[in-house]
Amino acid sequence: MTAIARHSAVWTPNALSTPSAVRRHNLGVVLRHVLERGPRSRATIAQETGLNKTTVSRLVGELLELGLLTERGIEARGTAGRPGHVIDVARDGAVALGLEVNVDYLSVQATDLAGGSRYRARETADNRAADSGTVLDRLAELVHGALVEVRAQGLRAIGATVALPGLVDVARGTLPAAPNLGWSDVAIVDELRARIGTPLLLDADNEANLAALAELWDGVAVGVSDFMYVSGQVGVGGGIVLGGELFRGYRGFGGELGHMVVDAAGALCACGSRGCLETRCGLEPLLAAAGGAPLSRRPVADLARRARAGDPEALAALDDCGVWLGVALGNVANLLSPEAVVLGGYFAPLAGWLTPAIERELSERVLGAAVPQVLASRLGAEAAVRGAAAIQLRRVVADPARIGSVIS
Ligand SMILES: [Zn+2]
Repeated sequence: MTAIARHSAVWTPNALSTPSAVRRHNLGVVLRHVLERGPRSRATIAQETGLNKTTVSRLVGELLELGLLTERGIEARGTAGRPGHVIDVARDGAVALGLEVNVDYLSVQATDLAGGSRYRARETADNRAADSGTVLDRLAELVHGALVEVRAQGLRAIGATVALPGLVDVARGTLPAAPNLGWSDVAIVDELRARIGTPLLLDADNEANLAALAELWDGVAVGVSDFMYVSGQVGVGGGIVLGGELFRGYRGFGGELGHMVVDAAGALCACGSRGCLETRCGLEPLLAAAGGAPLSRRPVADLARRARAGDPEALAALDDCGVWLGVALGNVANLLSPEAVVLGGYFAPLAGWLTPAIERELSERVLGAAVPQVLASRLGAEAAVRGAAAIQLRRVVADPARIGSVIS
């Protein structure tokens, strides 16, 4: 629940200018208050938020209608005013969908307002071999399957966020470039909306940014306000969290650690540059360096198994990858002074072999002994899709009236 709740702040006269803006804002105040503080009566909500009782009753009525709150039981004695019906978050009301298109899979996740996972599906696919239209057709089928499942549980999907492995223009809902998919200038949100049919709030974001947020809200980085997330997902993605917020940069494409140049004269990268971190630590160069059987269905698990067995070629490749990660993360540490770096995607299950080399490089390269802690994700490959569902829920919690137009 705390993964969704944010600060409650009652409207103050200078903050908002019109009555409807005040009402929208206060809807969020009441919903967040119940999320943060738990079930309570209208009278208690009024007393604690400073809103008057009539206003709270009207706002709660709207939130009940939107299916975001539910009414149950009578509040115990010892609270403000006469005992009244307890208002609680509707765990069996709204869900948000996280969707993910990655190079080698598609996935969907439905999360309820209390942060509970209600449905999950994943399909392996070679999306590099397919055009964007074909992949979005399949993603829409996964969405339809999810909608059938959540409806069968009596839940209503209110929105979806798509996680993508490339540069995402969040405001326009487009994907200007995804070198590892070979896609450019795809109007993801419009194309997906046309395929889904059902009215849903729909937006898109970069997969590593969403995974970084999942780590901040619900993973190993809870309570860490400044960290660099680095994700192995065929390519290498990154997400920067500063002051507890995602740092996107002026054009919104910040955090692309995979394309930090670690070897100026190095190999050509899919992005057109040379010697990017991804050319050293992307899945293909890592597996090529490790040797072993090609065409494995579970290459990362096989690499971990070989490393556990002491295979010298596997251990050397992992140590080498750790060195390049350490070089890149040392630059990040000197630039941003993060408290931690978080290893996600396929770097997480390999963290035991990568971390010693990363720490060695960091301790040699970071000034002032301000070496960030190296943490391994426990959300694994689900981080991005979980972050995608969570960010959509947070937008609804911040402004519940958004969903008024998409109730189906
Ligand atoms: Zn590159």
